[in-house]
Amino acid sequence: MKKYITVIGLEIHAELLTQTKVFCGCKNSFGGRVNGNCCPVCTGMPGTLPVLNSKAVELAIAAGLSFGCQITRHTLWDRKNYFYPDLAKAYQISQLYAPVCVGGGLEIGGRFISLTRIHLEEDAGKLVHSRGATLIDYNRAGVPLIEIVTEPDLRSADEAAEFVENVRRTLVYAGVSDGKMEQGSLRVDANVSIMLEGADKLGTRTEIKNLNSFKFIKKAVEFEVERQAGVLESGGRVIQETRRFDEASGETFSMRSKEDAQDYRYFPDPDILPLIISDCDIERISRDLPESPSKRFSRYIGYGVSATDAGVILENKAVADFYDACIRAGANPISALNAVKGELLRHFKPEGGDKIDVSPTDFVRALSLADSGEISGNGLKTAIRRMYAEGKPLDEIIKEEGLIIKEDSAAVRSAVLEVLNQNPKAVEQYKNGDVKVLSFFMGQCARLLKGAAHAKTIQEILLSELTAK
Ligand SMILES: [Zn+2]
Repeated sequence: MKKYITVIGLEIHAELLTQTKVFCGCKNSFGGRVNGNCCPVCTGMPGTLPVLNSKAVELAIAAGLSFGCQITRHTLWDRKNYFYPDLAKAYQISQLYAPVCVGGGLEIGGRFISLTRIHLEEDAGKLVHSRGATLIDYNRAGVPLIEIVTEPDLRSADEAAEFVENVRRTLVYAGVSDGKMEQGSLRVDANVSIMLEGADKLGTRTEIKNLNSFKFIKKAVEFEVERQAGVLESGGRVIQETRRFDEASGETFSMRSKEDAQDYRYFPDPDILPLIISDCDIERISRDLPESPSKRFSRYIGYGVSATDAGVILENKAVADFYDACIRAGANPISALNAVKGELLRHFKPEGGDKIDVSPTDFVRALSLADSGEISGNGLKTAIRRMYAEGKPLDEIIKEEGLIIKEDSAAVRSAVLEVLNQNPKAVEQYKNGDVKVLSFFMGQCARLLKGAAHAKTIQEILLSELTAK
């Protein structure tokens, strides 16, 4: 088989985290009673007029700033005309000629992937197919969306999936979108083509619609590359078309021939005024923008955290925010990392609401109690588990569990003597220079004392008794 180069460009649709929809005051929220969040505007009733939600524009600008885009100062709105039952007006308000952001990009694995543009538009409703009928839920109609369009810079299915993962993370950290792919907040269309190595012209592309997980992006692109190579190898031609990915079979199927911009008869929307974005607006939004995940990554590396561990912490924003709160509360970055990674993450369930309801001050105090030996390693684990699961203050947990080690040196001495008397052979070994038996003695004493003594105290008494023997 000849050698082909894969060329991928993406269109990433992300719903914005506004309270209300983009052109009316209806609530923007996932789920809820079917057709419960709609009004005459978002169901396209005659005589209604759209009113632009400024928060949606601000979030689109925040997305643009996060990817280093240029922000368009004089942005316009266009109608994209087509009929589909989920689009009550028979047109979508979008931006063709003057999108809110242009240029920019994101580096992944040392390669810079360029963005063409980011534009704002409204989402359509949702069709529900059930028992041979099709029902329409307009709750999603009019939810603000940004569409992030890349240049055809991506070269493999893996790279495409990694890129989307990075875009998603950037949007979530910037507070632009919740990025919940399983709820459709983030959906991807992939334009895929292949060309012979050394060729100077791109191959014909197909567009795979509505991919809603990293796994499906990867699978769909992989399948499509194979399929196109098969077509070319057997002497055929790839047809420009829109395809759908079937999750069950992992294959793509033709939906319709690909439409071009002119098919939609775009024209400026006469109902909405052009929008002037000032330097002052941009400065304010830029000032309020939270630290990006890539900047946080570099900061963690600066603490001496490994790249892998930094990735683990950054995977979920709630975890990264909690880690940062611990550091602000005075934690040593490495002990905090170990406790978050080793214990907290064992209990953390992101689907349980993305929240860590633990006081960072208590968490840091538990770490320092463990550091100074006032609570044991197991005690620290118990404290973290209960603080996370029950949201209880540390002091209450310490009291209930009796976590503070109260030492009775007479009890430690009698435990040490008991262990030594029961193991004369091991004592002999120690006297003959075998210091390895020390850890055996330590373990036995700790077991007898059931954690009611610091390791340091046991060791001191143990050594003095052994010398006396
Ligand atoms: Zn509405």
